Amino acid sequence: MSPTLTSFHYGTPGSGKKVYIQGALHADEVPGMLVAQFLRTEFEALEAAGKIRGEIVLVPAANPIGLAQAIQGAPFGRFDLTTGINFNRAYKHVAEDLKKSLSGLLTDSAEANVALVRAHARDSVAAWVPSTDADTLKKTLLGLAIDADIVLDLHCDNEAVLHIYAGTPLAEAAAPLSAYLGAHALLLALEAGEEPFDEACSRLWWDLAAHFGPAFPLPPACMSVTVELRGEMDVAYDYARNDARALINYLTHVGVLDGTPDPMPAPLCAATPLEGVEPIAAPHAGVLVFLKALGDKVAAGDAIADLIDPVSGATTTLHTKVAGVFFARTAHRHLLRGMQVGKIAGPVAFRAGKLLSQ
Ligand SMILES: [Zn+2]
Repeated sequence: MSPTLTSFHYGTPGSGKKVYIQGALHADEVPGMLVAQFLRTEFEALEAAGKIRGEIVLVPAANPIGLAQAIQGAPFGRFDLTTGINFNRAYKHVAEDLKKSLSGLLTDSAEANVALVRAHARDSVAAWVPSTDADTLKKTLLGLAIDADIVLDLHCDNEAVLHIYAGTPLAEAAAPLSAYLGAHALLLALEAGEEPFDEACSRLWWDLAAHFGPAFPLPPACMSVTVELRGEMDVAYDYARNDARALINYLTHVGVLDGTPDPMPAPLCAATPLEGVEPIAAPHAGVLVFLKALGDKVAAGDAIADLIDPVSGATTTLHTKVAGVFFARTAHRHLLRGMQVGKIAGPVAFRAGKLLSQ
């Protein structure tokens, strides 16, 4: 039986901004699917009250292929079992097509350029010929989102405090979302590498602006982010209700929903570069005992965790190199050599290359 993907549509296309929200692209990252249940209830009520100015597309379970995967009793939703490819990598970067197809068509009108880019981006996605079922899914999702003004891709980490990934040109636009959600890190990159979904929707804008130059104004017209809704086990009504409330406040703040948003809370963090994130890996196998809690602000050199050889008792204390926020960590408590221990968001860029974990 072929997997079925379901999208819910609210509001009226063309009547305002387009918003695209999906949950659980990595199918075993469940918090976003629960947030979507609250959002669906809210959007139905707002639509019935005529309060949606624009269009909202909600995909509560974005990965029916991954949702059907399990290995020996454990849900397995991050990679396609048939190819080993991450479900949040290898999206088509339509800018390459558009550099050719838009040649000679852009003008000095940003508004006209934005409309033109969106039309050509839709065509470019439509021309993508998938070679696997996972690619067909990716094409379908990207086709729903590529012409949106706002894209919210709801994921989670292993164990984490809430954090957000966005393109560097979106720093200002993402700040209100970060404040409403109470994010502990807002991580920015021009290009994170390996074409994740959020970037497939956003990076074309600054790539095309750089390619065509300042005579043809092109704003970063898609506020696309990956929201990491804490950790895999943080599936709770209180979290989901509050996260949905934060997203509704943000959408009201940007004028997609009629009404007055709750006052914006003070942000918990300033934006920092994704190149400033320090990933700490296990130097040898051992029992992992954390010495810092998620959300802790750490100084350079602080002890984060002990790694204990269970036979000899030899203990290695793992220290940070950067100062910053301890925002994500493994859910395992015995690691093999090279496995990830956790991540600290520092304010100074020092890494390059592929910036996302596998
Ligand atoms: Zn994910």
